[in-house]
Amino acid sequence: MKFDLNLAQRNDVWTSLVKQLESYYSETDKHKASVYPSREEVVRFLNADFENPIPVEVAIEQVIKGLTDYAVHTPHPQYFGMFNPRANFPSILADVISAVYNPQLAAWGHAPYAVEIEHLLIQEIGKKFGYRSPDIDGVFATGGQEAHITGLLCALHEKYPDFASSGVRGLKKQPIVYCSSASHHATIKAARVCGLGGEAVKYIPVDEKQRMLVSELERQIKEDEAAGLQPFFVFATMGTTGSGAIDPIKEINEMAEKYDLWVHADAAYGGAVRLTDSYSKLLDGIEGADSITFDAHKWLSVPMAASLFITKHRYVLGKAFSISANFMPEEEDEIDRLGSYTHSIQWSRRFIGLKLYLPLLVFGWKGYEETIMHQIRMGDYLRQALQKHGWNIYNHTQLPIVCFTDERLEDDSDFSKFIYEKTLEKGNTWIINYPYEEFATLRACITNYNTQENHIDNLVNWLNENRKEYLKTPAEAGV
Ligand SMILES: *Cc1c(COP(=O)(O)O)cnc(C)c1O
Repeated sequence: MKFDLNLAQRNDVWTSLVKQLESYYSETDKHKASVYPSREEVVRFLNADFENPIPVEVAIEQVIKGLTDYAVHTPHPQYFGMFNPRANFPSILADVISAVYNPQLAAWGHAPYAVEIEHLLIQEIGKKFGYRSPDIDGVFATGGQEAHITGLLCALHEKYPDFASSGVRGLKKQPIVYCSSASHHATIKAARVCGLGGEAVKYIPVDEKQRMLVSELERQIKEDEAAGLQPFFVFATMGTTGSGAIDPIKEINEMAEKYDLWVHADAAYGGAVRLTDSYSKLLDGIEGADSITFDAHKWLSVPMAASLFITKHRYVLGKAFSISANFMPEEEDEIDRLGSYTHSIQWSRRFIGLKLYLPLLVFGWKGYEETIMHQIRMGDYLRQALQKHGWNIYNHTQLPIVCFTDERLEDDSDFSKFIYEKTLEKGNTWIINYPYEEFATLRACITNYNTQENHIDNLVNWLNENRKEYLKTPAEAGV
């Protein structure tokens, strides 16, 4: 059949593709880290013509060129950006293997081995967070966003027994969701997707380290109760995207106990420290949360999209996602329970878990611990290198995220913008301007396990040069 190509063609394509991919993978640092083409240029390059098919080699060449020239190179060791990792090699192979076998994970019977692998990973990672089997359940999701939505839906079904049939229409009191003002906006999107609306989310102020002020949480809960609303859910962020802040989860758990809230720990990024001995304790108390979001496609260095939703309420996913009329979660067959069509927002499902299983088989927990520790050390090195060259650090975290600027320019958002625009223009690195409290800081994060001291030195040198360039125009800079 034409769709298969023939064996000889396939052999040629595999060979040449592997060569091209390997050249990118082993020499990622020969490329620019960032690009910022005009939209016209990209559309012009795209130039797709489905009326006139082209040979597969030509098509692949085109795609590789497009991805090389028109993408921020997140696998680059001088990409100091958001939590987009370089993908470790076994996890890349996993994506290829999944695509070839294309197992359907909706039901255990269709892909028993794959379903059992995901089940095992949920159990093992659940234990890392301090949950106890056999209570642990969970599901692989496409990302933190889907895991958040899953958590909110579980809580709604748990709290409101008729939610599966009547949804938000049946609620007597409006449910209220809390998160800190420094939390990821996936919280508000989750509330909107679940039909609660953005106004159901109340942002709680943070302290000087950007951690949720639990006294303010309680004040807001009381105010909402008095207004006839129903406080019912709180997101606790275990490592904020902007500055790596970790909410005081033990106190949040106590508050949840007192007011009957569901606690969802957003450990999308920070959850990785649970795989280390030395930093695991930063997340102590997370075992008290009802459910957790943990992204594998961030600090576990696997390709997008891979996240874990984990809960200590074994039957709640079935309550939320099984569609059979008389579904009794406690009575469900264990094998039904494992198939995702009763346990996930998704129906047909890709084998997401293999991206984590293969690297764990190859490197083990120890291998993960080593790379995570390396990145934490590189974060320390970055802080020291910046301070040595007269840059001031504004955030407070042990995670490798640094919010910084020159103290003389801390009120000058033109400066942070200047630096950000320069990164796009020159393309040798990628960092972002991110306001920390009232300060116009820049944010750099170690997201790549291959980032070494020399890459950090390059970043700091480059920052120093640009600061000099900016300060040459004191009239504009206002200093
Ligand atoms: C990235 C992130 C999210 C959103 O997760 P996605 O995987 O991008 O959908 C939520 N919370 C935090 C803290 C994050 O860093």
